[in-house]
Amino acid sequence: MEEIYSLSLEELQAYVQSIGQKPYKAKQIYTWLYKKRACSFDEMTDIKKEVIEDLKGRFYIENMRLVDIHIAKDKTTKFLFELKDGNLIESVLMVFDYGYSACISTQVGCNMGCKFCASGLLKKVRDLSLGEIIGQVMYLQKYLDKEDKRLANLVVMGTGEPFDNYDTLMKALKIINDPNGLEIGARHISISTCGIAPMIRRFASENVQYNLAISLHASNDTLRDSLMPINKAYPLKELFSALDEYSKTNNRRITLEYLLLDGINNLEKNADELKELVKGRNAYINLIPYNTVEEKDFRSCSERKALEFYDMLKKRDIAVTLRQKKGDDINAACGQLRAMAIKERNATS
Ligand code: SAH
Repeated sequence: MEEIYSLSLEELQAYVQSIGQKPYKAKQIYTWLYKKRACSFDEMTDIKKEVIEDLKGRFYIENMRLVDIHIAKDKTTKFLFELKDGNLIESVLMVFDYGYSACISTQVGCNMGCKFCASGLLKKVRDLSLGEIIGQVMYLQKYLDKEDKRLANLVVMGTGEPFDNYDTLMKALKIINDPNGLEIGARHISISTCGIAPMIRRFASENVQYNLAISLHASNDTLRDSLMPINKAYPLKELFSALDEYSKTNNRRITLEYLLLDGINNLEKNADELKELVKGRNAYINLIPYNTVEEKDFRSCSERKALEFYDMLKKRDIAVTLRQKKGDDINAACGQLRAMAIKERNATS
């Protein structure tokens, strides 16, 4: 059986033609899937019975199996899903002034090994499939449909390294962005990478308008090496050279994510170094409060210290924003819910 979400409209057209139907039928099916958000083929009442039966024999709709849900005081909602092979993944729904934003995972676990991150506590098991990536977005949209609300934004910042599952992600985003699909605007879609330079170069060569965010988190190679192993493969010089290539082909402003790790990366020296890194580049720094992870020794900055570092950057004329803390009371940081659920599973088995 094949995931029907993995088919582009053209592929679905080819399929309906292969069973002797007119290509426009594909659009009807697509509308059922993405606009009317059908959970089963039987809901597709204006599609001929023989076509429905054929669809049922070949495809399934990835409805995702919810096993846990946590709703924070600020309405950040964390969904834990169990996949068909028993693996667990998580997605997060966040509410901002400008609307709802979905944060999705791209892999089961992660191999990037960032020292501060809960996702890396459990190594990558496998890449997510197209249906599982789109399935998360569809589940969250269907959840919002109950309140007649729409997903305004999509951020690919959940568990996993998006550029380590590149082809699948790109195809999934194309379908999510398609006017016949879920129709989330490209400029409302952001991909966050730890900095796999060759993949950034590849991304630069695509004609897409998705936003690019880089998990920078350090202002020099020694510090970044100690926090993010990927830096040893692609140090800052190589990373920024790839970003410069991206900027040549794309006029989108790059987000440089910078976790505030108290006493580690929030000193005057770091501000000076960041100034050098952003100088002359179309990029801004997004300061992110750190969600503490039990197994890790890193401390988050107090609000006062976060503002102090923000001011240090402002004084140096660096474009900077301070991200609002979301879902703190439900451990909403990357990989935390999944890591906890697996710990509980192991404890009871
Ligand atoms: N692998 C990708 C995307 C997943 S991580 C990347 O590295 O960008 C998404 C973001 O959450 C990254 O910026 C990551 O560094 C950050 N992050 C990881 N653990 C965190 C934590 N405990 N608190 C806050 N942000 C965290």
